[in-house]
Amino acid sequence: MIVKTTEIELNTTKGFDITEITEQVQEEINQSRVKNGIATIATQHTTTAIFVNEYEEGFFEDLRAKLKQIAPANKHYNHNDLHKRNVPKNEPQNGRSHVLAALIGNSQTIPIVNGKLKLGTWQSIFLIELDSARFRKVSITVIGQ
Ligand code: ZN
Repeated sequence: MIVKTTEIELNTTKGFDITEITEQVQEEINQSRVKNGIATIATQHTTTAIFVNEYEEGFFEDLRAKLKQIAPANKHYNHNDLHKRNVPKNEPQNGRSHVLAALIGNSQTIPIVNGKLKLGTWQSIFLIELDSARFRKVSITVIGQ
C-alpha cells in the first residue's frame, strides 16, 4: 500500500475567491502511482474551506451571496474582540471567516479508480478563500495501491 502526503500552494486574490484545484490533485495522484484508493484534500488554514461542486459562475455567485447572508460582515463576532485574546496587534478581525470555514469544512475525500479521481461529470474540487488575499497551502494525502 502507498501512503503519500504532498502540498500544493496557491495565492488567493480576494475574499470569497474560489479556486479550482482538481487538476493539481489529479497530478499528485499521478505522481503517487496509486491506481485504486482514496485522496483526501485538506486546507491547512482556519479561514479557507474545501468543497466539491460544479464549475459555474452563477453557482459561485449564489454561494457567495448565501455565505454573506449566513455570516454578515457587520455582525458582532467574539473572535474579533482582540482585547480579550493574547494576539499580535495586527491580528485580522476575521470572525466571520472562521465561522464560514467551519460550516463548509476543511477537507474532502474522493475515491481513486484506475488512477483517476472518481468525480461525476459536473464535479470539481475547489478551495474557497473566506478571509482576504493570502498565500495558501492544501495538503493532498493519497492512500491506496
Ligand atoms: Zn482569526
